[in-house]
Amino acid sequence: MSILVVGSVALDTVETPFARIEETLGGAASYFTTAASLYSQVNLVAIVGSDFPRKHLDFWRNRPVNLVGLQIKEGRTFRWTARYHMDMNARDTLDTQLGVYAGFHPSIPDEYRSSKLLFLANIQPELQMEVLEQVANARLTVLDTMELWIMTTRPQLTEVIKRVDVLLMSEEEIRQYTNRASIVAGVRQLLDMGLQYVVVKQGSYGALLFGADGTYFSAPTYPLEEVIDPTGAGDAFAGGFLGYLSNVEPQQDNHYAVDEIKRGVVHGNIIGSFVCEDFSIGRLRTLTMDDVAARYRSLVEYSHFDPSWSSRRA
Ligand code: AMP
Repeated sequence: MSILVVGSVALDTVETPFARIEETLGGAASYFTTAASLYSQVNLVAIVGSDFPRKHLDFWRNRPVNLVGLQIKEGRTFRWTARYHMDMNARDTLDTQLGVYAGFHPSIPDEYRSSKLLFLANIQPELQMEVLEQVANARLTVLDTMELWIMTTRPQLTEVIKRVDVLLMSEEEIRQYTNRASIVAGVRQLLDMGLQYVVVKQGSYGALLFGADGTYFSAPTYPLEEVIDPTGAGDAFAGGFLGYLSNVEPQQDNHYAVDEIKRGVVHGNIIGSFVCEDFSIGRLRTLTMDDVAARYRSLVEYSHFDPSWSSRRA
């Protein structure tokens, strides 16, 4: 089953305490597309400028990625520059140049409209709404966002949140959006807006899943000895999550079973962990389903504990 994504395709310049890389393939939709195409066909909606290197398009053409919805326009590709702290869960955005995104309006090709899974990757909420209006029959809609939109376009973001099924947010973004110190209280407020699930991204500490039906699940993270570049981990998470679900049959009510949603979150964590092992989408280029399966087994082992115990002293 194909997955539709709209979001940024960018050229990123990233500096960590240990290395720097210039004008590498980045953008939320790029990470998602590369990750999810490990599982199923991805239908990409985005825009790049005439300066966008052909080799990136050729790379996607060699994977199950449909580029019919990728507009190529005279002008400059979106550019983003960031610097990571020693704690690589924290970073500063140094520069954002919208380039051709300034006048962009997503147009969903007819052949994409039957996509049952939709990921609204990081992009202006108005554009995410334009996509929702063109894709009426999605089975599951997943939304990602960032601090910038919480601060600058909150009312528009609110309208999008009310229309989707699953929201991905970092702990910090939940506090910013809900103005609550407690993540649990903040998530409750978000679920009351009509969401089925909220996934709380915790960077190198994993992810929490909260459901409107009372579901709570803490998904472990894979312990990486070395993080090269965490950029795009959230988008790759979404790629693993929706990628996994794209190969799962929904229940009779057209919803996914909670256990499948949990497995999807674990796949998200796994793909997110792989992305951190190299700059850009480097690690995803060679990633195989066997690599994913091995890490899945490790996570089961690392997070399983015996439910039986005794309070009696020996
Ligand atoms: P993440 O690390 O998951 O937050 O995703 C980082 C990616 O988001 C980078 O590759 C950037 O190119 C992209 N990005 C950064 N700022 C924006 C923005 N304002 N709009 C859309 N994409 C952005």
